[in-house]
Amino acid sequence: MKYISTRGQAPSLSFEEVVLTGLASDGGLYVPEKLPEFSREEIASWAGLSYQELAFKVMAPFVDGEIPDEDLRGLIDKAYQSFRHQGIAPLVQTGHNEWILELFQGPTLAFKDFALQFLGHLLDYILQKRDQKVVVMGATSGDTGSAAIEGCRRCENIDIFILHPHNRVSNVQRRQMTTVLEDNVHNIALDGNFDDCQNMVKASFADQSFLPEGRQLVAVNSINWARIMAQIVYYFYASLALGGPHRPVSFSVPTGNFGDIFAGYLAKRMGLPIDQLVIATNSNDILHRAISSNDHSKQELHHTLSPSMDIMVSSNFERMLFDLYDRDGAAIAQLMEDFKSGAMHLSDSALSRARELFASHKVDDDRMLEVIRDVFENTEYLLDPHTAIGVDAARATRKDHSIPMVCLATAHPAKFPEAVQKAGQEEDPKLPHHMADLFDREERYEVLPNDAETVHEFMRGHLAC
Ligand SMILES: *Cc1c(COP(=O)(O)O)cnc(C)c1O
Repeated sequence: MKYISTRGQAPSLSFEEVVLTGLASDGGLYVPEKLPEFSREEIASWAGLSYQELAFKVMAPFVDGEIPDEDLRGLIDKAYQSFRHQGIAPLVQTGHNEWILELFQGPTLAFKDFALQFLGHLLDYILQKRDQKVVVMGATSGDTGSAAIEGCRRCENIDIFILHPHNRVSNVQRRQMTTVLEDNVHNIALDGNFDDCQNMVKASFADQSFLPEGRQLVAVNSINWARIMAQIVYYFYASLALGGPHRPVSFSVPTGNFGDIFAGYLAKRMGLPIDQLVIATNSNDILHRAISSNDHSKQELHHTLSPSMDIMVSSNFERMLFDLYDRDGAAIAQLMEDFKSGAMHLSDSALSRARELFASHKVDDDRMLEVIRDVFENTEYLLDPHTAIGVDAARATRKDHSIPMVCLATAHPAKFPEAVQKAGQEEDPKLPHHMADLFDREERYEVLPNDAETVHEFMRGHLAC
């Protein structure tokens, strides 16, 4: 299996190479040259498989023998051992044929654990084989940082440095990162905002000369292909649990950078019968505007009660555009060049294809709070704010009530007590047992000025492996 860039000018890479690479050298994102496809019979034969067994079936064709089957199975088993619920991705019913897919049973209570638990083990395995050590560097405004740290904390060949804006992430989110005390885990609280953190990371990737000889930076943000790949699995898992592939299933996905829902689109292309794919956005609605009125333009950032979806531009949408434009790399390069002005317009055929594939809906904070209240009143099930947006979008766009609608629950409500309180819940939602003492644990982080030299010197001086 070869991986190619969406802009057509970068060398193609093998699976292992693509896992170690962030952006392609032409600025594009890597995608598989050809998607594996499964027949209905084959998918049907997977009914009853455990999550781990199913993950192997879905992911093995992408790895294409570069990792021996036994080793790949081992990596998958290790990745999902850290989940609290034996079902890994359990389903809960909240209405007629309406289901919540709980993707928050991993160690940091957000769906990002599905990909990052796997990616940590996968990276460490590839590095061990190559006798190589790397530095993972990333910026976070919340969920990604803690999931990446949990994924890398036990890796022997990785130092991980995560930058968060000092005093601007929630207490739960900060503590999930800073109470991980392994020597290879380094939290930097940057004096600045999230953009400053991101710019620091970007500049560091662009010039890595501050690292010792032989070390390179690796990105674990959602442009890393392995993350998308690992997320395809739960679409198959949910469908099989609800009578697929013999009947179609629909999905509603709280969307920020378009990684999660892109995985759903890939599942459909790979042969899974999916009826509707609903893009659910908060007030940062660039994707909803693009689909509903061909307005893909950057607008100012809104700070909402669903902060993990607060984006101005969805980085993974370029992967979707590549398919919408018949995989014409030159066309995508041009489109992205146009977008430097702050706006792009899709061609008629790309737009009509996008509308066939996706429904979209935007949900503001007030409406989101109503949905948390409504679902709690009717089912005593407490949604987190991101998931509530998905539920509302599902209800607003649903066409056929005989088809199961699966709303992806991307986070546990205890991660976002502010929204839950605003929705009228008297008590804070309880943290799950394994995190009950989060506020008593020792923290370690370094506050640094927004200055590249200082940050780089800190990094050089703290490499542990
Ligand atoms: C990251 C995140 C999202 C958005 O996922 P994308 O793949 O970026 O679209 C939604 N909800 C939660 C809780 C998240 O952490």
